[in-house]
Amino acid sequence: MNLKILLIVLILLSVTFVSGCTSPADGVSEKSGNIEDNIASNEGSDSGIHGSETDVLYQVSTIDALLQGVYDGVLPVAELETHGDFGIGTFDGLEGEMLALDGNYYQIKTDGIAYPVSGEMLTPFATVTYFEADENFRLEEPVNLTELEDFLDLNLPSENLFYAIRVDGNFSYIKARSVPRQEKPYPRLADAVSTQSVFEFENISGTLVGFRAPEYVKGVNVPGYHLHFITEDRSAGGHVLDLEMENGDAALDITSAFFMELPTSGDFYDVELGQDLQADMEKVEK
Ligand code: ZN
Repeated sequence: MNLKILLIVLILLSVTFVSGCTSPADGVSEKSGNIEDNIASNEGSDSGIHGSETDVLYQVSTIDALLQGVYDGVLPVAELETHGDFGIGTFDGLEGEMLALDGNYYQIKTDGIAYPVSGEMLTPFATVTYFEADENFRLEEPVNLTELEDFLDLNLPSENLFYAIRVDGNFSYIKARSVPRQEKPYPRLADAVSTQSVFEFENISGTLVGFRAPEYVKGVNVPGYHLHFITEDRSAGGHVLDLEMENGDAALDITSAFFMELPTSGDFYDVELGQDLQADMEKVEK
């Protein structure tokens, strides 16, 4: 990571030097141009902002609202689909795991099966984007979940952006879960997951779909990695708890814009946000 940053800095310095030499007469405006060049991505943008309109992470509600039992669906999938072809989330009443891949939305229920999703179904929490790979990596050696995350961390351009993550791989083992529909009064998520179903897959090909969010979004989204899995034939999957991958292709989509849509009715109005729910998060993710 440090080496990579150093290399980028060196490249940027040389860009500044060269452009400074070629047009010395431009003074201040040229200087500000250089600053923008320095911030700009390697995709050739000169605005200082990486993204196109598709590099938007679109999120419904907040993770801390979900952790505290705000499970009533607020946005139809038909609407969510207009914000992305790739993502994860859950459904009304916390019924199953959502996974969107290549424009297809799935609901993975407690039998582990991935069902098609209709446009009228509602989500209380979801994160989607239009997936366009910015960086691709081939992993030839076996890795567990921690090693996969460490590998991706080493290859991120920055820890301060959002990334959509897609990994098509061959897995010797995957442990995944789904949560059953909850009844009112809704329990907290940390209690709801005590009724989760856990599935184990062995020697299976499939795709990990999810995001890496920066530390500073704690309370809003899950800091670090949040991955769901679906089999290659798109028939089964779940929220990933553990894995061993033999080999695979990982793709990162640098997502520099963030749009959050908050519920304008229901339990969200009265839930107390702003508490530290780290302990709840630990229970839920493992
Ligand atoms: Zn999940």
